[in-house]
Amino acid sequence: MKNFSTGLICLICVLLSFSIPIKTTYAYNTFGHKLVNGVGYYGQNRQYYFLNNSLGSEKQKFIDAMDKWIYGTITTPISFRETTAQSSSVIDVYKVSSPNNGVAALTYFMYGDKNVDASKTDWYWAKIDLQSGTYDKLTDWQKRLVHAHEIGHGLGLNHTNINGNLMHSNGNSSTTNIPQNDQFNGINSIYK
Ligand SMILES: [Zn+2]
Repeated sequence: MKNFSTGLICLICVLLSFSIPIKTTYAYNTFGHKLVNGVGYYGQNRQYYFLNNSLGSEKQKFIDAMDKWIYGTITTPISFRETTAQSSSVIDVYKVSSPNNGVAALTYFMYGDKNVDASKTDWYWAKIDLQSGTYDKLTDWQKRLVHAHEIGHGLGLNHTNINGNLMHSNGNSSTTNIPQNDQFNGINSIYK
Protein backbone atom coordinates (compact mmCIF):
# COMPACT_ATOMS: atom_id res chain seq x y z
CA MET A 1 0.00 0.00 0.00
CA LYS A 2 1.30 3.40 -0.88
CA ASN A 3 1.88 5.69 2.04
CA PHE A 4 -0.49 8.58 2.05
CA SER A 5 -1.33 11.43 4.29
CA THR A 6 -4.90 12.49 4.85
CA GLY A 7 -3.88 16.07 4.92
CA LEU A 8 -1.62 18.84 5.80
CA ILE A 9 -4.23 21.25 6.99
CA CYS A 10 -2.43 24.21 5.58
CA LEU A 11 1.11 25.43 5.66
CA ILE A 12 0.53 27.45 8.80
CA CYS A 13 -0.90 24.53 10.68
CA VAL A 14 1.92 22.26 9.61
CA LEU A 15 4.40 24.69 11.05
CA LEU A 16 2.39 24.96 14.23
CA SER A 17 2.38 21.22 14.61
CA PHE A 18 6.13 21.46 15.22
CA SER A 19 5.94 24.29 17.70
CA ILE A 20 2.95 23.19 19.75
CA PRO A 21 3.27 19.80 21.42
CA ILE A 22 0.23 17.61 20.97
CA LYS A 23 -1.57 17.01 24.24
CA THR A 24 -2.23 13.39 25.04
CA THR A 25 -4.62 13.96 27.93
CA TYR A 26 -7.52 13.34 25.57
CA ALA A 27 -7.81 11.14 22.52
CA TYR A 28 -8.65 14.25 20.53
CA ASN A 29 -7.02 17.59 19.96
CA THR A 30 -8.70 20.84 19.07
CA PHE A 31 -7.31 24.04 17.57
CA GLY A 32 -8.69 26.12 20.43
CA HIS A 33 -11.10 27.84 18.06
CA LYS A 34 -14.22 26.90 16.13
CA LEU A 35 -16.70 27.51 13.36
CA VAL A 36 -18.14 30.93 14.22
CA ASN A 37 -21.74 29.88 13.73
CA GLY A 38 -21.35 26.37 15.09
CA VAL A 39 -22.14 22.95 13.67
CA GLY A 40 -25.93 23.11 13.81
CA TYR A 41 -28.01 22.34 16.84
CA TYR A 42 -29.36 18.81 17.34
CA GLY A 43 -31.48 18.99 14.20
CA GLN A 44 -33.32 22.10 15.40
CA ASN A 45 -31.20 24.24 13.16
CA ARG A 46 -28.52 23.20 10.76
CA GLN A 47 -25.49 24.15 8.75
CA TYR A 48 -24.84 23.38 5.10
CA TYR A 49 -22.14 21.88 2.95
CA PHE A 50 -21.50 22.48 -0.72
CA LEU A 51 -20.07 19.82 -3.04
CA ASN A 52 -18.49 21.23 -6.18
CA ASN A 53 -19.12 19.36 -9.41
CA SER A 54 -15.41 18.62 -9.62
CA LEU A 55 -16.13 15.81 -7.12
CA GLY A 56 -18.17 13.93 -9.68
CA SER A 57 -19.12 10.49 -8.39
CA GLU A 58 -17.10 11.08 -5.21
CA LYS A 59 -19.88 13.29 -3.83
CA GLN A 60 -21.65 10.33 -2.27
CA LYS A 61 -18.58 9.42 -0.22
CA PHE A 62 -18.63 12.85 1.39
CA ILE A 63 -22.38 12.59 2.04
CA ASP A 64 -21.90 9.16 3.63
CA ALA A 65 -19.03 10.43 5.76
CA MET A 66 -21.02 13.45 6.96
CA ASP A 67 -23.92 11.17 7.88
CA LYS A 68 -21.53 9.25 10.15
CA TRP A 69 -20.67 12.53 11.86
CA ILE A 70 -24.35 13.51 12.22
CA TYR A 71 -25.65 10.17 13.43
CA GLY A 72 -22.82 9.28 15.79
CA THR A 73 -22.43 6.78 18.61
CA ILE A 74 -22.41 9.76 20.99
CA THR A 75 -24.93 12.57 20.49
CA THR A 76 -23.44 15.84 19.30
CA PRO A 77 -25.05 19.07 18.04
CA ILE A 78 -23.80 18.31 14.49
CA SER A 79 -26.61 18.94 11.97
CA PHE A 80 -25.68 19.39 8.34
CA ARG A 81 -27.37 19.22 4.96
CA GLU A 82 -26.18 19.62 1.40
CA THR A 83 -26.94 22.89 -0.34
CA THR A 84 -26.52 24.04 -3.91
CA ALA A 85 -26.40 27.64 -2.66
CA GLN A 86 -22.73 27.99 -2.02
CA SER A 87 -23.20 31.24 -0.10
CA SER A 88 -24.97 29.40 2.72
CA SER A 89 -22.38 26.64 2.99
CA VAL A 90 -19.82 26.43 5.81
CA ILE A 91 -17.96 23.43 4.38
CA ASP A 92 -17.11 23.59 0.67
CA VAL A 93 -15.54 20.58 -1.02
CA TYR A 94 -13.57 20.56 -4.26
CA LYS A 95 -11.31 18.19 -6.12
CA VAL A 96 -8.25 19.91 -7.50
CA SER A 97 -5.34 18.78 -9.67
CA SER A 98 -2.23 17.82 -7.75
CA PRO A 99 0.86 15.66 -8.05
CA ASN A 100 0.81 12.19 -6.50
CA ASN A 101 2.78 13.33 -3.47
CA GLY A 102 1.06 11.44 -0.67
CA VAL A 103 -1.23 14.29 0.35
CA ALA A 104 -4.82 13.22 -0.26
CA ALA A 105 -6.58 16.41 0.83
CA LEU A 106 -6.08 19.81 2.37
CA THR A 107 -8.48 21.66 4.65
CA TYR A 108 -8.31 25.44 4.83
CA PHE A 109 -9.91 27.56 7.55
CA MET A 110 -11.56 30.57 5.99
CA TYR A 111 -12.69 34.00 7.13
CA GLY A 112 -14.26 35.62 4.07
CA ASP A 113 -11.78 34.99 1.29
CA LYS A 114 -8.84 34.73 3.65
CA ASN A 115 -7.18 31.55 4.89
CA VAL A 116 -6.76 31.92 8.65
CA ASP A 117 -4.83 30.11 11.37
CA ALA A 118 -7.32 28.02 13.35
CA SER A 119 -5.09 28.11 16.41
CA LYS A 120 -5.48 31.88 16.52
CA THR A 121 -9.00 32.70 15.36
CA ASP A 122 -12.42 31.25 14.71
CA TRP A 123 -13.34 30.55 11.10
CA TYR A 124 -16.56 31.16 9.18
CA TRP A 125 -16.18 28.29 6.79
CA ALA A 126 -13.80 25.51 5.81
CA LYS A 127 -12.61 24.59 2.34
CA ILE A 128 -11.64 21.00 1.64
CA ASP A 129 -9.53 20.40 -1.46
CA LEU A 130 -9.22 16.75 -2.44
CA GLN A 131 -5.85 16.34 -4.14
CA SER A 132 -6.52 14.35 -7.29
CA GLY A 133 -3.01 13.01 -7.83
CA THR A 134 -3.07 11.13 -4.53
CA TYR A 135 -6.77 10.83 -3.76
CA ASP A 136 -7.66 9.16 -7.07
CA LYS A 137 -5.22 6.33 -6.39
CA LEU A 138 -6.72 5.40 -3.02
CA THR A 139 -9.05 2.50 -2.30
CA ASP A 140 -12.72 3.11 -1.59
CA TRP A 141 -12.03 2.57 2.14
CA GLN A 142 -9.18 5.10 2.10
CA LYS A 143 -11.20 7.69 0.21
CA ARG A 144 -13.91 7.44 2.84
CA LEU A 145 -11.27 7.93 5.51
CA VAL A 146 -10.11 11.09 3.78
CA HIS A 147 -13.64 12.55 3.78
CA ALA A 148 -14.31 11.67 7.42
CA HIS A 149 -10.89 12.98 8.50
CA GLU A 150 -11.14 16.29 6.65
CA ILE A 151 -14.65 16.89 7.98
CA GLY A 152 -13.11 16.46 11.43
CA HIS A 153 -10.66 19.27 10.64
CA GLY A 154 -13.37 21.52 9.24
CA LEU A 155 -15.41 21.10 12.42
CA GLY A 156 -12.42 21.88 14.61
CA LEU A 157 -10.38 18.75 15.36
CA ASN A 158 -6.61 18.79 15.03
CA HIS A 159 -4.36 15.80 14.45
CA THR A 160 -3.61 13.26 17.14
CA ASN A 161 -0.60 10.99 17.30
CA ILE A 162 -2.62 8.09 18.69
CA ASN A 163 -2.32 5.07 16.42
CA GLY A 164 -5.60 3.89 14.95
CA ASN A 165 -7.29 7.25 15.46
CA LEU A 166 -9.30 8.81 12.64
CA MET A 167 -7.44 12.08 13.16
CA HIS A 168 -3.93 10.64 12.84
CA SER A 169 -2.08 12.66 10.21
CA ASN A 170 -0.96 9.52 8.38
CA GLY A 171 -3.90 7.69 6.85
CA ASN A 172 -2.00 4.41 7.08
CA SER A 173 -2.14 4.72 10.88
CA SER A 174 -5.92 4.97 10.99
CA THR A 175 -7.82 1.76 11.66
CA THR A 176 -11.23 3.36 11.18
CA ASN A 177 -12.63 5.43 8.36
CA ILE A 178 -15.61 6.76 10.29
CA PRO A 179 -15.70 8.99 13.41
CA GLN A 180 -15.61 7.27 16.80
CA ASN A 181 -16.34 8.30 20.38
CA ASP A 182 -13.05 10.23 20.65
CA GLN A 183 -14.07 12.52 17.83
CA PHE A 184 -17.63 13.01 19.09
CA ASN A 185 -16.29 13.87 22.54
CA GLY A 186 -13.97 16.36 20.87
CA ILE A 187 -16.84 18.03 19.05
CA ASN A 188 -18.89 18.22 22.24
CA SER A 189 -15.94 19.81 24.02
CA ILE A 190 -15.93 22.56 21.41
CA TYR A 191 -19.63 23.21 20.74
CA LYS A 192 -21.82 21.74 23.46
ZN1 LIG B 1 -5.31 15.91 8.64
